[in-house]
Amino acid sequence: MTRSLVVGVLALQGAFIEHIQIFEKIQSPVSYSFIEVRTEEQLHSCDALVIPGGESTAISLIAQRTSMLKPLMDFIKSEKPVWGTCAGLIFLSKQIVNGREGQKILGGMDIMVKRNAFGRQLNSFEQKLDFSTFIPGVSDFPTVFIRAPVVEMILDDSEETYNKLGEVIRSENTYQNPSKVEILHQLENGLIVAVRQGNKIGTSFHPELSDDTRFHKWFLDEFVSGK
Ligand code: GLN
Repeated sequence: MTRSLVVGVLALQGAFIEHIQIFEKIQSPVSYSFIEVRTEEQLHSCDALVIPGGESTAISLIAQRTSMLKPLMDFIKSEKPVWGTCAGLIFLSKQIVNGREGQKILGGMDIMVKRNAFGRQLNSFEQKLDFSTFIPGVSDFPTVFIRAPVVEMILDDSEETYNKLGEVIRSENTYQNPSKVEILHQLENGLIVAVRQGNKIGTSFHPELSDDTRFHKWFLDEFVSGK
């Protein structure tokens, strides 16, 4: 028998249980196991990783205190699939604005992410979005945004000009993602809320907080098993 594919959910802080619950509802001919990841050893057993929503400053701090920052940066370098949702998108990026002093990020995607991009008035909202351009048939996905970040900019060679935006925190990871960043979804007002770069994906919203399994199923098929 072939071993199952192990999908880890980073369980330092945030909505990790919700991701595992959604994954466990999915029927698939491929054998998967879903595990909470808190240690380097658990991370090493993973074929793919999900970084949940929560609070990116707390995830950064706990990763440093538990000596998980370097193993996570190395996991990024290993080219295994990684999906970040909300705070996870912040943690996965190469640059952030509105970050806290000392906040660390993994540098897996060539994007600049702005934390808390919707301002105080719009702390959280739900919206059905059309993802059918990248997930066939999914034109009404229920998304939940909570103090959500957006992708402020796709970084390219001219990235040095972006300093104007204010205090920018840069990842210390030397990883260079070999793929191009693709915008998967922009809201009607132009804000970028889903991006992909090779086998890394980031979403501003929380698919794990609806009970719709289609986004998670797509991640497994498209990124993890390649089926
Ligand atoms: N504002 C949070 C942060 O900066 C993200 C919110 C979320 O994950 N729902 O980490």
